[in-house]
Amino acid sequence: MSLTEDIKDFALDLGYSKVGVTTADAFTEYIVDLESRYKMYAWYIEGASKPIAGADPRSIMPSAKSIIAVVYDGSRESFPKTLVGKIGRIYQARCYLTPGHRINGARRQLMREFLETRGCQIAQRLVVPERLAGARAGATTYGKNNFAFAEGIGSFIIITAFVVDTELDYDEPSFEVKCSAKCTACIDACPTGALYEPLKLNPHRCIAFNTFTTRDGQLGGVTSYIPPDIREKMDTWIHGCDICQEVCPRNQRRLKAKLPQNEFLVKVAGDFDLTRLLNLSDEFYTKSVQPLMYNYIKEKKYFQRNAAIALGNTGDPAFIPALAQAMQDSNGLVRGYAAWALGKIGGSRAKEILKASLARETDESSKKEIHAALEAA
Ligand code: SF4
Ligand code: SF4
Repeated sequence: MSLTEDIKDFALDLGYSKVGVTTADAFTEYIVDLESRYKMYAWYIEGASKPIAGADPRSIMPSAKSIIAVVYDGSRESFPKTLVGKIGRIYQARCYLTPGHRINGARRQLMREFLETRGCQIAQRLVVPERLAGARAGATTYGKNNFAFAEGIGSFIIITAFVVDTELDYDEPSFEVKCSAKCTACIDACPTGALYEPLKLNPHRCIAFNTFTTRDGQLGGVTSYIPPDIREKMDTWIHGCDICQEVCPRNQRRLKAKLPQNEFLVKVAGDFDLTRLLNLSDEFYTKSVQPLMYNYIKEKKYFQRNAAIALGNTGDPAFIPALAQAMQDSNGLVRGYAAWALGKIGGSRAKEILKASLARETDESSKKEIHAALEAA
């Protein structure tokens, strides 16, 4: 058995659904494309993952020869109804950027250890464009919605790429966009226009980006501020957004399939509630939030902000008491977005709460939000 076959067999045995191998050559078109959209992607280009360098693996690891792309199917089990429309499926599946002590992180670690036992040196801290790596390794194709699709699965997948210094046997690339020429369902369904043409996304308008990347301290002008026109379109999404994948014909077979439950997810979903996320206790954070949404947000206030937006978007006065409680939160960001939600729900009770809150508010951004909410209420 060749080394390449040995590696592929091991990956499949670990539970990955597809494996492909490609060269460590630079992804030149990706670099050109990313740089041509610098303004949209400055926060990413200048960020810690250094995507431009990662797209040319030998600029970081001169001995790099091959990239092994493995695909994990994040939709092999069903998703609880109470979490759908709030948390992206791939986050519910807990297979993206998973810490090493949890199952999907351990799988990645086992793969690394196996490669080392076979004499491969693996690049450290090198982030290659994984969807491109998957396509060049023949493991995935593209959709016009920018997602990678695996044959027989769909797009609720995660690709992990291992860059190694070993020459391997390379697969035929599968760069094609395997959508029907006529289909534009994803572009039509995107509520914010973030998906502005096939394979082109403006991250700043994307709901997923706004749920987790809009945090203070980011680069490229990204802060915790979410523009009101985007808030309106976020519906109840609090971590990710699946709309452009949900409408996709290429995902329907899996989305409609009768799949087994994941008991851990069922348990977490049983406790999940947007009002608990809004007025977030340490206990709820540890038990129900962190196990699913550990990827990007490390500070509770951003989950609270997102919950406030989601509750405001329901327009349901039943949530006014929870929002009134959030107007007493110690964090100005939370108070500001709770005010927005009260303005969105409107009515005399919401107005009373906003007026009383304004009288004691000391944070300038929150005051601005309260004023705007009073006008809207
Ligand atoms: S994730 Fe949501 S907001 Fe982003 S492009 Fe897809 S549908 Fe649009
Ligand atoms: S919705 Fe249609 S165009 Fe969009 S990714 Fe799916 S098949 Fe392709």
